[in-house]
Amino acid sequence: MMSRRRQIYEGKAKVLFEGPEPGTLVQYFKDDAATAGREGVITGKGVLNNRISEYLMSRLNELGIQTHFVRRLNMREQLVRELEIIPLQVMVHNVAAGAFATRLGLAEGSALPRSIIEFYYKNAGLGDPLVAEEHITAFGWASPHDLDDMMAMALRVNDFLSGLFLGVGIRLVDFKLEFGRWWTSDEMRIVIADEISPDCCRLWDLKTGEKLDQDRFREDLGRVEEAYQEVARRLGILPEAGAVDLKAPKMMQ
Ligand code: ADP
Ligand code: MG
Repeated sequence: MMSRRRQIYEGKAKVLFEGPEPGTLVQYFKDDAATAGREGVITGKGVLNNRISEYLMSRLNELGIQTHFVRRLNMREQLVRELEIIPLQVMVHNVAAGAFATRLGLAEGSALPRSIIEFYYKNAGLGDPLVAEEHITAFGWASPHDLDDMMAMALRVNDFLSGLFLGVGIRLVDFKLEFGRWWTSDEMRIVIADEISPDCCRLWDLKTGEKLDQDRFREDLGRVEEAYQEVARRLGILPEAGAVDLKAPKMMQ
């Protein structure tokens, strides 16, 4: 099934391997969950996030919003384009929740006057601090032009995903994107990287307000696996969730 591949990076949720062709990587999705103050395993999460991210990024690619996603390889792996990652997490907020609500003294669930974009510096040692455009351009993490591209893309993704999720009875409260630079022979493009999944989106059931994302783990609400499965099921990805064995196979690389 898998050939021996050189491991390039192991993060909290994924492992990156050298891809089969130059300029590609293989993203392996783990079941590990790590949030501030909590670590554990969400059985089957890797399989579901691989499928959910495949689905959402394929739809974005079809719309001309370029992502790194090339194709899914198997239950836990997908082929992506290798990018030079911009060391920022770009968050889009539609509804107040989590640390954003706490920091600004807003009640969780309160509507925002408009969608708000925030940037966090990707540096785990520093706890991924919130930064302003001033820091980003002064330290050269991204140019003003890169920032314009990222913000425009983030808002397009927000419009598309908000509508997509609304159609299946889910409110897209907020989400995080990562971006990277992709060089073709004569130009550079900003492309969406990493994953789009319940690990990095806040998703609330439209009717009940029930949380269907990683906050179930973060806040120890229980039924975490079920929430990820429910998102996949509503997106039409797992019509027969019961038939799929979501247990982690031994990693073979
Ligand atoms: P982390 O613990 O750093 O969040 P993850 O477990 O999410 O790591 O693993 C994914 C890592 O791979 C992230 O650091 C992410 O920035 C990086 N990454 C995602 N997509 C690409 C890509 N297309 N090219 C290079 N690096 C990528
Ligand atoms: Mg990550």
